[in-house]
Amino acid sequence: MPSHEAIIIGAGLVGSAIALRLAQEGLRVALIEKNKPGREASWAGAGMLSPAPDAPASIPLVPLGRASLNLYPQFIAEIEEISGRRTGYRSDGAIELLFSAEAERELSTLIALHHALGLPTEPLSVDEAIKLEPGLTARARAAAYLPYEACVDNRALVEALLAAALISGVELLPATPVRAIVIDQGRCTGVRTEDGTLFSAQDVIVAAGAFSGLLEGIVPPLSTRPIRGQMVALQSQSPIRHVVRCEHGYIVPRDSGTPQRLVTGSTLEDTGFDKSVTARGTEKILTVAQEMVPTLSNAEIVELWCGLRPDTPDHLPLLGPAGVDGLTIATGHFRNGILLTPISAKLVRELIVEQRVSMDWDIFNPLRFAEGKSAANGDNSSSGGQVSGNQAGSKFAHK
Ligand SMILES: Cc1cc2nc3c(=O)[nH]c(=O)nc-3n(C[C@H](O)[C@H](O)[C@H](O)COP(=O)(O)OP(=O)(O)OC[C@H]3O[C@@H](n4cnc5c(N)ncnc54)[C@H](O)[C@@H]3O)c2cc1C
Repeated sequence: MPSHEAIIIGAGLVGSAIALRLAQEGLRVALIEKNKPGREASWAGAGMLSPAPDAPASIPLVPLGRASLNLYPQFIAEIEEISGRRTGYRSDGAIELLFSAEAERELSTLIALHHALGLPTEPLSVDEAIKLEPGLTARARAAAYLPYEACVDNRALVEALLAAALISGVELLPATPVRAIVIDQGRCTGVRTEDGTLFSAQDVIVAAGAFSGLLEGIVPPLSTRPIRGQMVALQSQSPIRHVVRCEHGYIVPRDSGTPQRLVTGSTLEDTGFDKSVTARGTEKILTVAQEMVPTLSNAEIVELWCGLRPDTPDHLPLLGPAGVDGLTIATGHFRNGILLTPISAKLVRELIVEQRVSMDWDIFNPLRFAEGKSAANGDNSSSGGQVSGNQAGSKFAHK
């Protein structure tokens, strides 16, 4: 008899939420984490809950993002209730600033695109934007208001989610790196850790973020690759209420007091698993933040860090059955994994418990790159350089 009914590899937001959902169904669940739980991309992220596309490639993600955003208020209430912890969820919306000479035209395109995608984004004059958020620069040429957007303190959320999972009966195994998925006679029967220990289970779920492609036993390997994002936290004497974004960066408020912690980002860099914070990255983030909110030039820098986004060749998640009985994949959430946590956990629970899912998720099929060789280990064509996240110009804001 397997030692667990479900094993989840990776205690980030995605893995922890799946573990919680399966434990709530009465399954014996192990959540296996190679280091300290919740300290990778889920710790590093900005916490924007934005279903708006950040590039043409992410347009197919919008329905999944909208569905997940709709789940968020209930998800947060439940996690806060079970864990007794706060998560810093705020639903004050976002303001997007446009600076280019073509800003008016880009704004019309953005509004039309968002409306076609079911996102009720509103055009704003720059004066109206400054009324909503007095610290904003008057040098922007156009602005949009995204009243449906929210944000969350992702560090607080992952801590609360892990606490809720433990309270709900999940067995958490930190400092336990999984080396391989075990396949026996065409069925996944468990995992083998780096020290050779075997854990057996009826279902194994891979939620190892940017490291998923390193797991042995999956053929071909999962096509994830790390994309570095650097971040700077500021302490400001002039609080802001909304998430503020433009083509090159963002500012996310963390709390409402004075001084206020603001998280500013980011970079998109294809530098492998290197987690260095660089002078160039930090300079770029601070320049963009001050362009949007000039008073930030006096803000104190209180923290610098970076994280590895789990990217895929088409920048869409790998979500669903892996083509081997007992193996499910939930990774590759790239720039939107915090937003997509509730829906990913919901769909994986449905698959494992009900053997059906309530949304069409075929485009996220983890096997979609299996035929084409180029996908097996990621497309390294931009290796070592900046990743073009805004391929279509400034009507797509940075995430
Ligand atoms: C700078 C930055 C800003 C971001 N901003 C946003 C944002 O505003 N909004 C948004 O929605 N998303 C954002 N993201 C993306 C988001 O953070 C990720 O998509 C999301 O956190 C992925 O969650 P995860 O649980 O899949 O991965 P992770 O949080 O990376 O968790 C994976 C876990 O698996 C563990 N693991 C890996 N390999 C093994 C193994 N072999 N054995 C055991 N454990 C293993 C890791 O240690 C890790 O704890 C941002 C990311 C970055 C880096």
